[in-house]
Amino acid sequence: MTQVVHGFKTEHASQNARRSRSRPAGKHHRARCPDQSSEHTASEQSNTESVGGAEGFADLGLSRALLAALERLGFQKPTDIQRELIPPALAGRDCLGQARTGTGKTAAFALPMLQRVDPGHGIRALVLVPTRELAAQVGEHVRMLSPRKPPRTLVVYGGTNVGSNLRELKERVDIVVGTPGRILDLIQRGALDLRGVKLAVLDEVDRMLDIGFRDDIRRIMAKVARERQTIFVSATINDEIRRLAHGLMRDPVEINVSADRLTVDEVKQDYVSVDARDKFEALRRFLKRTAPRLAIVFTRTKHGASKVSRRLGRANVACAEIHGGLAQGRRTRVLNDVRAGRLNVLVATDLASRGLDVTGVSHIVNYDIPADPAVYVHRIGRTARMGNTGHALTLVTPEQGRELTDIEKLINRELNRVDASDLVQTRVESARESSAVVEPSAAAPAPQRASRCETIPTGAAGTRRRRTLGDRFPRSRRRR
Ligand code: ADP
Ligand code: MG
Repeated sequence: MTQVVHGFKTEHASQNARRSRSRPAGKHHRARCPDQSSEHTASEQSNTESVGGAEGFADLGLSRALLAALERLGFQKPTDIQRELIPPALAGRDCLGQARTGTGKTAAFALPMLQRVDPGHGIRALVLVPTRELAAQVGEHVRMLSPRKPPRTLVVYGGTNVGSNLRELKERVDIVVGTPGRILDLIQRGALDLRGVKLAVLDEVDRMLDIGFRDDIRRIMAKVARERQTIFVSATINDEIRRLAHGLMRDPVEINVSADRLTVDEVKQDYVSVDARDKFEALRRFLKRTAPRLAIVFTRTKHGASKVSRRLGRANVACAEIHGGLAQGRRTRVLNDVRAGRLNVLVATDLASRGLDVTGVSHIVNYDIPADPAVYVHRIGRTARMGNTGHALTLVTPEQGRELTDIEKLINRELNRVDASDLVQTRVESARESSAVVEPSAAAPAPQRASRCETIPTGAAGTRRRRTLGDRFPRSRRRR
């Protein structure tokens, strides 16, 4: 029988697994998602290789109560990461899990967590995530997966009333989900005691252990008992992160179901070579042509997001912006509008690049190519989730060949180049549109963007040589 020691079940629930195997197959349901507007059908799942195999949830050692919750949700089969991570996690092992975006990493850690936490004994589990929006989503996901007698989950993040967190922490809390800043704040106020935590999870672990968050994470983990279980997950885990992660874990089971492919096949990945001054026009045309169900346009800075959003507004493209410069209330409202299908275009900073699970994202536009190639993987991972399809377009200026190559090396595939002339007006066209008098002359045809050259600085002397983006990286040296 599963033992309960101080509110944390310590033994692998193999009996449950045996009991459950004889359970009849669940009815066909539609899966409700944390995004309440979202639905995935079983048939959608069956055509993704990340969901499949004969083995069901019942074989993983999950309790009857959790199997019932999964059946209510219509989760019929575990995804690869769920199948691989849940059994060792239930057995109490530390786990470092890597799987592509949108393949159910949240349930992979949340199900064992829900099974192992016995309600009513104090805070037993802590989940740390990088953004407020993700904290809210993961909290909702955990609640959604909870059995009928659920552990109490408290979600805490900045930009909300700390007073209500303080009040709620006086009540029974079993699981805390939050962002590092607010968690530290509550610890410093003496309101959050993590000494009883038996399971610590870092979602988006590479972001959590990168330079911006690393010290906060170390300070928080130092407050959690050393005798704990630790689960880290992300779609992108490099050697440096693996080394840092090992420093916080004990003999972890390493699970990588991404193999050598970090991005999902269902997302069509294009790029267009375009001058910086033509980027907005390329975006406007792309949105006009594709009439997306929901596009997320990523910029590098808050200022950039505001500017693009304002310009789209002036061009009669209804959109909203989301970034760290907005009050939390506004951020939440924008995301609610997006989830409810009231918006077709969202202009965002990388605040929205990690973890967000919004159904119906049909297009991603990298208005500014990300400097960090891992960010590209996460940005485009907002589309084509759980077997759905999506389309990503990256705008690359002549100076950004290096960034494009770095992305291609990381994801181990080439992006497909689309013809800029499809998206960007030729000078003659724009002149014609603005003055309606200039006609292209047969003797001097309008320059086509596709054949335009880029200027790439070479060497300290600042001499510049001209070459096309296509030869920025000799084909023989490209990794396939
Ligand atoms: P990831 O963290 O890997 O990016 P999420 O945990 O956000 O992915 O899950 C993506 C979506 O898939 C969510 O809407 C979730 O409800 C749904 N989902 C997760 N596991 C399953 C499953 N086994 N069957 C059906 N849907 C699932
Ligand atoms: Mg996730």
